[in-house]
Amino acid sequence: MPTTALSTDELIASIPKQLLIGGRWVAGGMGRSMAVEDPATGRVLCEIADADAEDGRRALDAAAKAQDGWAETSARERGEILRRAYEIILSRTEELALLMTLEMGKPLAEARGEVAYAAEFFRWFSEEAVRIDGGFARTPDGRNRILVMRQPVGPCLLITPWNFPLAMATRKIGPAVAAGCTMVLKPAPQTPLSSLALARILQQAGLPDGVLQVITTSRAGEVVAPLLRSGRIRKLSFTGSTAVGRTLLAQCAEAVVRTSMELGGNAPFIVFPDADLDAALEGAMAAKMRNMGEACTAANRLFVHREIADEFGQRLATRMGALRVGPGTADDTDVGPLIDEASRRKIGALVDDAVSRGARVLTGGSMLDGPGYFYSPTVLADVDMSSEMLKTEIFGPVAPIVAFDDETEIVGTANATDWGLAGYVFTQDIDRALRVCERLDVGMVGLNTGIVSTPAAPFGGVKQSGLGREGGRVGIGEFLEYKYVAIPVRG
Ligand code: NAP
Repeated sequence: MPTTALSTDELIASIPKQLLIGGRWVAGGMGRSMAVEDPATGRVLCEIADADAEDGRRALDAAAKAQDGWAETSARERGEILRRAYEIILSRTEELALLMTLEMGKPLAEARGEVAYAAEFFRWFSEEAVRIDGGFARTPDGRNRILVMRQPVGPCLLITPWNFPLAMATRKIGPAVAAGCTMVLKPAPQTPLSSLALARILQQAGLPDGVLQVITTSRAGEVVAPLLRSGRIRKLSFTGSTAVGRTLLAQCAEAVVRTSMELGGNAPFIVFPDADLDAALEGAMAAKMRNMGEACTAANRLFVHREIADEFGQRLATRMGALRVGPGTADDTDVGPLIDEASRRKIGALVDDAVSRGARVLTGGSMLDGPGYFYSPTVLADVDMSSEMLKTEIFGPVAPIVAFDDETEIVGTANATDWGLAGYVFTQDIDRALRVCERLDVGMVGLNTGIVSTPAAPFGGVKQSGLGREGGRVGIGEFLEYKYVAIPVRG
């Protein structure tokens, strides 16, 4: 159990349940509320405000009103707010971890890891805030001067998913604050409590009223579409599925809103015969089982060279089969529940489909008794390429293994998907490592590692996995515009 002094009920009671608009916590949606559920028990944790389109408009009004003043603050001031928020988050690790485990299901150890990861985005962008630069040049003919300034894009809409409730919020709020943008944050309805807690922390850290609004809603489409079409939102930063991303891109097109899109993935995990097998197994456990497999970077297709496929499969099954499944709040849990029953049923159907096409179940392959939405860690061998799970995001604790023979062929197979977020390559041959890293059609590659996420690197995908990058040196640029001033110099 966590070491926070607060009981679960006290912790839930301490979180604001209203909308944050213009620095005030207000009831929304004409007093309507929506339930937040614990996926490990199906129990309702609490009710929170359920915003409607009018609340969305008021939130945007507040963000628009605060924009000019906020853009005028010094970069140091903005950076120090982030730095203070970073310290507060770390000092409240246990509370925030427990909150995330309760609303999302991940084991406490993973939730603590996410708190640290989330906080790091604030530290990183506190350091980036003071490095916003510009440029000065002469035109090639020597007559004119070119002054380049970088300015905040303006009010932003931030939409986050449920799988990393805290980190997906800080990965957007951090650069927006650093750049001097105001924001409306719409968290996922399954996991709003982490965002509400985070908003209060930012208030405590000194974020001025109106810079961040938080609107929780069960009617995302109804609330968001008018904001994007209003022309007053200048930037959408979205993390979620490719299907929803496409819809939002179409809405953004109408008012030509700038976008950053962090969408779904279908990561190949390729193990060559010269790989260090222990490292590959370690990598597979991390890339597959982090967050119960509910990660956009999750290894979705495990391609293992035929010479080692049996040994790899057996050893992975032994490790996966030994994982303890249970509520994330229990000390000995390795794997928590899935987010909901629909997700669990989808995974069950994907496994049944693969088995009907000849896959062998090496471990797992079944739903576990509830009341929560548990599914056993599963390894499948001899998965046929026609199986549905190789063509879609599994988003659960299922590792499908496909044996391969040839490097060129497997890179082609790995790239034969509309997605291109992450990929993983295990080999000790430096030439092959570089060749395959270069040829994989993805935004991020884990070379002999199963973890790619860090605030210091540009995170994002190609093809239908997204547009733009979050984190790294480029992350703040997503929230800045260039303005160029032409200056003729006479005489
Ligand atoms: P989702 O269903 O696409 O939802 C993401 C967010 O969009 C939620 O807040 C959701 O709220 C909102 N939304 C849905 N329809 C909307 C609409 N018409 N207008 C405005 N907002 C709308 O995704 P999810 O199930 O929460 O998250 C899992 C997905 O996120 C996976 O595909 C995963 O790969 C992806 N993901 C990507 C990254 C990355 O960095 N590339 C990171 C994490 C997750 P409602 O639920 O209320 O509709």
